[in-house]
Amino acid sequence: MSIASILARTAVTSGAARLASATVDLLFPKRCVGCDREGAFLCQKCLAELPRVEPPFCFLCGQPGRLMMRLCPSCWERPLEIDGIRAPYRMEGAIRQVVHGLKYQYVRALAPDLGHLLSEFIAGSNLPADVLVPVPLHPRRERSRGYNQSLLLARETGKVVGLPVDDKALRRIRATPSQARSSSQKERRANVANAFAAETSLAEGRRILLVDDVCTTGATPEACAIALKEAGATSVWGLTLAREV
Ligand SMILES: [Zn+2]
Ligand SMILES: [Zn+2]
Repeated sequence: MSIASILARTAVTSGAARLASATVDLLFPKRCVGCDREGAFLCQKCLAELPRVEPPFCFLCGQPGRLMMRLCPSCWERPLEIDGIRAPYRMEGAIRQVVHGLKYQYVRALAPDLGHLLSEFIAGSNLPADVLVPVPLHPRRERSRGYNQSLLLARETGKVVGLPVDDKALRRIRATPSQARSSSQKERRANVANAFAAETSLAEGRRILLVDDVCTTGATPEACAIALKEAGATSVWGLTLAREV
């Protein structure tokens, strides 16, 4: 089958955004997003050198730094509703390219490797979970991108750890402007407040592990947790691949 006919078929079935990523998957040889070496999207050397989040970090929001009684100054002042947010990696170096790649280019090719990284973290961290729930995109954004990278990550992770994925338990009901790094914690919280709605029949009595690609200040997982807990979730933890520090 020619590439043109594969692309034509893809275009018919999945839309322009999927076509773009399928084109990338098909036409470009695998190169490491960290060092450009050929062979894998993340080579062994760059994988081993990914910058990890090391303790001490806040027991609630997961932010590394100075703590008071296991909490960062912000959570000390105003504790979060979410039970905790964790991330294996700092949003630096190759992981920044990986997260960017997941959003914009090597989506399907990267997701399985990243799912393995999250699975390893889950296996070593005792996070309570009955179900993985991806942080939803607003339907309009998902349509224009063609997929939700958090859902892809959750699916790949769920396959490895043997947890179900539920992308119906939580919906984004309000589009929010993308979070600028410069805006304050307060602005970010206001930005995403009431942006999510949870389905009681799917959330009630469940221990939910939210999955997202990156955590900037924790405002998004916190807003998700508020909605899920109002709908009766037993616990809500957030897990992201990387976090801004
Ligand atoms: Zn590399
Ligand atoms: Zn904190």
